[in-house]
Amino acid sequence: MFIAVMIVIALLCVIGFLIYRLDLYRSYNNYRIDKIKKLEADLSKEEDLNNNTLKKLNKVAYTNPISKIGNLDFFISEAGKLFEEEPETDCTMICFNIQNIGKINKLFGPTEGDNVVIHAAHTLRDIGQRERHIFAHIYSNLLGIIVKNRSEEYIKEQIAELTRLIAAYNESFKVLTSFGVYHISDKTQPITQMINACMLAQRFVKNPEKCNYVFYTEELEADLTQNKQMSQEMEQALEEHKFLMYLQPMVDLKTFRIVSAEALVRWDYPGKGILSPYAFIPLFESTNLVQKLDYYMWEECLKTIRRWIDNKIAPTPIAMNISPIHFQNTKFIEYLDELCEHYLIDKNLLILELPERGISSGGSQTKEVITTLKEHGYTLCIDNFGSMNSPLNLLRDYPIDRIKIDRSFLNQNSDTEEGMSILRYLIAMAKEVGLTVITEGVETLEQTNLLGEIGSDIAQGYFFSKPVDLREFDQLNHSMVQRVYQSNEYYPTFEDLEKDLDLIAFMLEQA
Ligand code: C2E
Ligand code: MG
Repeated sequence: MFIAVMIVIALLCVIGFLIYRLDLYRSYNNYRIDKIKKLEADLSKEEDLNNNTLKKLNKVAYTNPISKIGNLDFFISEAGKLFEEEPETDCTMICFNIQNIGKINKLFGPTEGDNVVIHAAHTLRDIGQRERHIFAHIYSNLLGIIVKNRSEEYIKEQIAELTRLIAAYNESFKVLTSFGVYHISDKTQPITQMINACMLAQRFVKNPEKCNYVFYTEELEADLTQNKQMSQEMEQALEEHKFLMYLQPMVDLKTFRIVSAEALVRWDYPGKGILSPYAFIPLFESTNLVQKLDYYMWEECLKTIRRWIDNKIAPTPIAMNISPIHFQNTKFIEYLDELCEHYLIDKNLLILELPERGISSGGSQTKEVITTLKEHGYTLCIDNFGSMNSPLNLLRDYPIDRIKIDRSFLNQNSDTEEGMSILRYLIAMAKEVGLTVITEGVETLEQTNLLGEIGSDIAQGYFFSKPVDLREFDQLNHSMVQRVYQSNEYYPTFEDLEKDLDLIAFMLEQA
């Protein structure tokens, strides 16, 4: 009996223990399930977190930090998708930048420069979203668009709209844009190469206020190669005296005598003959090489005057072109002064032609340069007067002596009564403030007579002579002006200078 009771108790204990273990197991299991669930919840939270982080990272990677619109990577990725999904769609890429951003940064500070770029990017975004283009702020101040299935007309309209809205940023200063357009013929080429094609075309925008876009063509590529070659050859050509000085006479409209001459450069280019300055000056202006060329030309002018003087030929005052690039500082004035001292040339024999485009777009720095030139005794002439839209302000604001009315202005106005009134008014205004008026591009006798009647003092143009080389100019001059000095004129020669120096040395010895 005792044994049976013990067995039952033992059995009960075992069953109890088993029940206890089972419970324990259950609660442990529940605990584990909870734990797993929690871990799973945590994991999914982490995944969400990772996804968010990834999204954020993606956004950063594909966004331009300044304008907060898509960047170059975004542009490449969206364009890549488009070209893959729609290989047959006709696409055009347009890239543009703020052409005068350097000047804006300089005048108003980099923050204002950034604001202008942001304004341009947001204008692009608004238009891009409306028209469903792919668009991006590629880098720096370069922005890009890809336009689908649109005509050239439409593209020009888009450019005009962007130009207008971006320019509206601020009325007190100009925001100039320049656009390069590339029709994408091969969608397998790298997108960066397409951007380069746009930028290449954009480099051919010469005057963004007149026309601020260029469509890419293969010829442009060839031109660029040619330009590169010219830039590389320029310095050697200077050393080898391949740049020639041509002179074009300026004639007094009362006496019909040559009273001065403009020095115009030509390039004697191997295999191509004599090149016009239009073939290389714009290129050299875009790379600052024009500074060296001007320095060379000015020296040629002074040497020529010295040669006339030494040969007892009455020297003709020479008008020298000063590229607007020099208006950035007064350094070139020291060089001009040194040249005058070195060749012993009276500054009255020089006229400096300052292009209107450089003066009207220049700020206080340009004014300082012009004032300093005046203080140093140079005769100053505004060249291409009337080619921009600000002529009368220039007469008032700058210490100049002359204006040279631009050829295009004469052509636009010399045919009609109304045009003649404008010319007459302009000349009267200039004379009123004591300026000498020269008119350029005079090609006919009628123009010559009309200009004489309405008060132009001097004329320059093919009617009198095209620009000619020095030998021809001397012959022309020989037939039109007195060869020897008039009695009241005295120009010191080098011999005179040497005599003076001997005299000074002698006096010093005596003292
Ligand atoms: P610019 O200073 O306005 O020079 C006048 C241009 O008009 C010259 O062209 C001249 O040949 C041309 N011209 C004069 N009369 C007539 C005319 O009756 N009819 C026509 N159709 N044209 C006429 P060019 O010599 O080809 O010079 C072009 C421009 O190149 C110059 O315009 C000037 O801006 C620039 N340039 C020339 N030489 C130099 C230079 O040594 N330095 C700099 N910085 N620029 C220069
Ligand atoms: Mg000129």
